[in-house]
Amino acid sequence: MRSYSLIAPAKINLDLEIIGDRPDGYHELVMILQSIGLADQIDLYSLSTENIRIHCNHPQVPTDKSNLAYRAAELMATKFPEAFSNYGGVDITIKKQIPVAAGLAGGSTNAAAVLVGIDLLWNLGLTQSELEELGAILGSDVPFCIAGGTAIATGRGEKLSPLLPSLAPLHIVLAKYRSLEVSTPWAYKTYRQEFSSSYIRDSNSLAARANAVHSSAIVKAILQQDAAEIAQKLHNDLERVVLPAYPQVLQLRELFAAQPGVLGTMMSGSGPTVFAIAKSPEQAEAVKLSVRQAIPDEDLELFVTQTITHGIQVASTPKGEIKN
Ligand code: ATP
Repeated sequence: MRSYSLIAPAKINLDLEIIGDRPDGYHELVMILQSIGLADQIDLYSLSTENIRIHCNHPQVPTDKSNLAYRAAELMATKFPEAFSNYGGVDITIKKQIPVAAGLAGGSTNAAAVLVGIDLLWNLGLTQSELEELGAILGSDVPFCIAGGTAIATGRGEKLSPLLPSLAPLHIVLAKYRSLEVSTPWAYKTYRQEFSSSYIRDSNSLAARANAVHSSAIVKAILQQDAAEIAQKLHNDLERVVLPAYPQVLQLRELFAAQPGVLGTMMSGSGPTVFAIAKSPEQAEAVKLSVRQAIPDEDLELFVTQTITHGIQVASTPKGEIKN
């Protein structure tokens, strides 16, 4: 096989708690991550030369070495130099649907797709945990994006514990202003400045706190497939710094909360995307329409999607084509 097409889903956070500092400068987190149907398509072709090339239809996405998908391919080339020289380089086309810098792990899921795709392209036969280990080198959200579904994530987000059986679909509405970006480092730094006095300091208490999430109310609601209860228990510590600084995000949050048919609403990751859980697909469409009428600004993007039970998927195994 000389080319693959992969589907790379976005994620939302059903829970994001900052519980402490880490010696590596990151935070100790407790999160519940959830894959959603909104996804990018990643097409990979083997090249006859040892190059890595990126193409993307979105003007805000870099096509140089700063693209996380490029770094994923480079990591594979470094880790598997023999396969790289046998099979050649790779041409990567990213068809972007996921809003950029949105708290939806767009770059991370692209990198995850490149790891999965190159494993296939080069016949490496890596296990999921080997792929996740490689993913953790690239970014905290990459390991989750590989298997996807619903998972508890601890550490800096790379230690995963899948929540099974799979969650029945929740109906999701997403809202993001195209031109509004929130810097993830800014959000965490500001949180540290304002709230680090509440951080847990000793490692035993941190481990106990991270472990306690397994018996938390939201995890129970997920295991019981109780959409209304999940929606009531949504939580994101970063709202404490992002909502006061970004009134547009707060406005979306309040507008969602006021809609009939909305079970709950929350910001995803470090924002600025806000999502709502609706009672049904019809209600989700009605919420989207109503928010669009309340804010007719073209800069506001709205999506209706649902939660899904998988991460990276192979969409098609192609035709033996080699690009030069
Ligand atoms: P996370 O939820 O993991 O914090 P995010 O959804 O907030 O991620 P991304 O969409 O990954 O953010 O984009 C963050 C920055 O990374 C953007 O400003 C963009 O320039 C850069 N970037 C690098 N590679 C990619 C990629 N493949 N897709 C999107 N953005 C990328």
